[in-house]
Amino acid sequence: MSPDASAAEGTVAPAGGEHLDDVHALGARALDEAAAAADLAALEEVRNRYLGRGDGLISARLRGIGQLPDPEQRRQVGQTLKALRDRVEEAIEERRRGLERAAQAESMQAEAMDLTRPAPPLRRGHLHPVTRCARELRRIFGHLGYTAVSGPEIEYDRYNFELVNMPPGHPSRDVQETFWIDDARLLRTHTSPVQIRSMVELGAPLRVIIPGRTFRRDYDATHFPMFHQVEGLCVDEGIALSDLKGTLEYFARSMFGPDRAIRLRPHHFAYTEPSLEVDVSCMVCGGKGCGTCRQSGWIEILGSGMVHPNVLRNGGVDPERYSGFAFGMGIERIAQLAYGIEDGRLLFENDVRFIRQ
Ligand SMILES: [Zn+2]
Repeated sequence: MSPDASAAEGTVAPAGGEHLDDVHALGARALDEAAAAADLAALEEVRNRYLGRGDGLISARLRGIGQLPDPEQRRQVGQTLKALRDRVEEAIEERRRGLERAAQAESMQAEAMDLTRPAPPLRRGHLHPVTRCARELRRIFGHLGYTAVSGPEIEYDRYNFELVNMPPGHPSRDVQETFWIDDARLLRTHTSPVQIRSMVELGAPLRVIIPGRTFRRDYDATHFPMFHQVEGLCVDEGIALSDLKGTLEYFARSMFGPDRAIRLRPHHFAYTEPSLEVDVSCMVCGGKGCGTCRQSGWIEILGSGMVHPNVLRNGGVDPERYSGFAFGMGIERIAQLAYGIEDGRLLFENDVRFIRQ
């Protein structure tokens, strides 16, 4: 009969002379299985099989000792079983440490970094065309002595409309689709409120350009709810329309090339008098006529005019002593023309492939 038969079935050891052999065989098997456990789960199974509190093969035998008839046999078998239990426990513990070390080594290997490997090349960032254009505008007007200033994007009705000569009920308010926050506050529809703020803060004479975000409820192929404007304001004694023309000519040539010409057309804005729209000779065809300029040879780029005396007064500047001019343009439009971007929506989609070009 195989000495393992009873053990394998998990039964209590029968009384008889072969008890010690039986115990040794059981122990040898437990130690082999512990050493061979492939992972922590298998090892836990070995522990349960032999040392499990209820029906572990060794535990059960220990409990069955009392049924042995001979006291000397009880003592011998008992001592052997206890020593065996301790050895199996030790073996399981040792195997557990071995498995854990192996797992750790494996994960270290998996996460290992080869510090001598060359790094992948870093992608260089690119400025968004709107950012680039705003910087260029600052640079160009900086040469003419203009300082860039900024103001709040959440603005009061008073600054956005009233103080720039658009009191409640003024017809120009209708064209500006306004995002209202409450009765008194809104998202600024243009950068013009900063003209008032600059005059109040800095006083005359002054030369500022005001690049910034503006907001209107408008969305189609050529209009966006958020867009960038830059406005310029020059206030001094004896400022005349010819100063405005010279300044804008310098700007057009710096931005679009030395051969550009500008032309002024009368227009109406609430905050300037007289008001002018400004065209630049087409940078694509040079004025001969093409699709970009709709065969006219001219492209509208900005609005401008002599600052209305009311606006000067609202900024705390004496219109009897000072005069000034102002101009404003959309940065997206200037960027489109300067960099030859046909679809303005590209400027807002943040497609990295486009920005990288
Ligand atoms: Zn053209």
